[in-house]
Amino acid sequence: MPFLNDQNRMWQEKAREVAEKVVRPLARKYDLLQEYPWEIKDALAEAGFFGVWIPKEYGGAGGTVLDLCLVIEQLSRACGGVGVMYCVNALGSFPILVGGNEEQKAHWLPKIARGEKLIAFCLSEKFAGSDAQSLRLAARKDGTGWVLKGEKKWTTNGGAADLYTVFAVTDPASKSRRISAFLVEKGTPGFTIGKIEDKMGIRCVPVVETVFHDVRVEDAQLLGGQPGFGFHHAMGTLDLARPGVAAQGLGLAQGSLELAMVYGARRQQFGSPINSFQMIQQMLADMATQVEAARQLVYASARSLDTKMPAANKMAAMAKLFATDTAMKVTTDAVQIFGGYGYMRDYPIEKYMRDAKITQIYEGTNQVQRLVVARNLVKETGALTQLLEAYIPREVQEGFNDPATLAAQKAGEGEAAVRGTTS
Ligand SMILES: Cc1cc2nc3c(=O)[nH]c(=O)nc-3n(C[C@H](O)[C@H](O)[C@H](O)COP(=O)(O)OP(=O)(O)OC[C@H]3O[C@@H](n4cnc5c(N)ncnc54)[C@H](O)[C@@H]3O)c2cc1C
Repeated sequence: MPFLNDQNRMWQEKAREVAEKVVRPLARKYDLLQEYPWEIKDALAEAGFFGVWIPKEYGGAGGTVLDLCLVIEQLSRACGGVGVMYCVNALGSFPILVGGNEEQKAHWLPKIARGEKLIAFCLSEKFAGSDAQSLRLAARKDGTGWVLKGEKKWTTNGGAADLYTVFAVTDPASKSRRISAFLVEKGTPGFTIGKIEDKMGIRCVPVVETVFHDVRVEDAQLLGGQPGFGFHHAMGTLDLARPGVAAQGLGLAQGSLELAMVYGARRQQFGSPINSFQMIQQMLADMATQVEAARQLVYASARSLDTKMPAANKMAAMAKLFATDTAMKVTTDAVQIFGGYGYMRDYPIEKYMRDAKITQIYEGTNQVQRLVVARNLVKETGALTQLLEAYIPREVQEGFNDPATLAAQKAGEGEAAVRGTTS
């Protein structure tokens, strides 16, 4: 693979080996059982994968976002559920890296890096999905701590995880400093697991409701030690995590393409392998081209975060939406190439299609990603205007300061608080 350095290739090869030896043979078992695959988690911990994104000073491998994406891609190539079972630990611990104080980092990150402690990310609620700012779970100040009351929806890793990054309302009256994040341990009195969801795909990883019934946490568990920065920490986290979901989509697309290639060579109809038919060849060629385009965008977005490029969040949103839309398209085409066998649960290909669907929905739906990209484009337009305005029809520009136009523009600003669009 061009443009990868030695460190990138090391993680890629290691993950590919674990994916083939451990993950692929067990993928069907845990999809059917819908149970957490502890034996796979142990293999990932032994390979050092939980330390990839954690800096060396906190016991990690000091890898890059690109290294993390390469591991996720290879695991998802074999099983999309294992891809997310792994990368949700990055999602849960990025808030500590983004906003945690020194004590919180030193206490939790080495345990997460060793795979001793699993972590989950609790932002979404029944009434707060894309509009993450509208969450209701309340944290009330009480002496030297806080009391959490409310529920979270769709906590991936819930029940399996030891630690939960929980976003709560600490200042209902504030617009910009309404939310704070807390680190809540499994077993804290009042904290329980509610409904366990029965899912279409990614069935090996639990997704649950988490219930907080007067859960007392100390000030030391408030992320960063200062209230009011929770939304900022959540958005910083989602920007960092998006290439990982994109890599999950990429791995699923690549894995289904490979199965379709082999099936196309083996399946005979009309006395010839089906991969000799031009219509099948065209599908395979399109699938491979889409996968490669997604790969380049995922790697570029990871690098833009690693090198702190401006508008890295735009690249991350582009990668997430393109790679996960590609995953849905390519896995669906792979089922088509398998014909009737593709529709049967006896064979692994239909699982790729089921696992792919969620990648278009979570960590900001693909509609929300398009909003992130579009808002960045609007911001970037200012710099282009001076250069290009001579080529824009004059009458359009004359209408620019018209009061009716300005009022209509203002009305459109109401959408601004959509998940991930404020960073
Ligand atoms: C399996 C699974 C695992 C998950 N894991 C986690 C987790 O670990 N932690 C966590 O916090 N959350 C998690 N989520 C929640 C996930 O991030 C949300 O489902 C997602 O953000 C969308 O929110 P919603 O489902 O409430 O949909 P809604 O926000 O209600 O959206 C419904 C539809 O409207 C569209 N829409 C909404 N707003 C706009 C807009 N302004 N413009 C255009 N279209 C719009 C959406 O794109 C979507 O198509 C998980 C969800 C699932 C299903």
